[in-house]
Amino acid sequence: DSANTEEATGTLTVATEPAFPPFEFQDENGELAGFDIDLMNAIGETAGLEVQFESLPFDGIIPALQAGTVDAAISGMTITEERLQTVDFSRPYVKAGLAIAVQADNTEVATLDDLQDKRIAVQIGTTGAETAAEIPGAELSTFDSAPLALQELANGNVDAVINDAPVTLDAIASGNIDGLKVVGELLTTEFYGIALPKGSPNVEVINNALMTMMEDGTYAEIYQKWFGE
Ligand code: GLN
Repeated sequence: DSANTEEATGTLTVATEPAFPPFEFQDENGELAGFDIDLMNAIGETAGLEVQFESLPFDGIIPALQAGTVDAAISGMTITEERLQTVDFSRPYVKAGLAIAVQADNTEVATLDDLQDKRIAVQIGTTGAETAAEIPGAELSTFDSAPLALQELANGNVDAVINDAPVTLDAIASGNIDGLKVVGELLTTEFYGIALPKGSPNVEVINNALMTMMEDGTYAEIYQKWFGE
């Protein structure tokens, strides 16, 4: 099994889908920015690896890991049983969860039950899409990115979006998307992990770096920068 005996390489090619602020996005200069980007760069520094990002569509990330065309992925990706069948994950680095967004003047929707037979926009390949697919009678529209799904809701073409709460809240708070609100409780508790090809020697390298950064304050500093807590 060659994958298990490979040495950690000097450069880590890391996939990300950069339309998921505040975790990953392109800033006004077209540069990658966000919590995940800072975290991954700090992991590289801590572990003595050069990090080279590669932008991919979210639903192309796991296939790229399986094909071995990238060494890792950091993309607000939830650690799920299903994904663990095909890739490995680092230890969890962020706690998140799904939330329902509706138009700001909507008074009908607060729970998943209220979404039966409604039109819902989701991002393809995500835990939000999976959750929406289980709602009886719901009509799903799928988009390549979360901002596109949220814009569809702002345009009034769907009744709701199911997406990661921190990302939807950031879109509303930043003014990137107008006229929306988050309703009800979080639908899930999810943990993000850095995904790697099965058997990658870099799982341990990344976990050790994360552990060091959680102990020496580097993680807290990056968290504070993006979430202010
Ligand atoms: N956390 C969600 C998932 O893993 C969404 C991730 C994303 O859109 N970048 O499916």
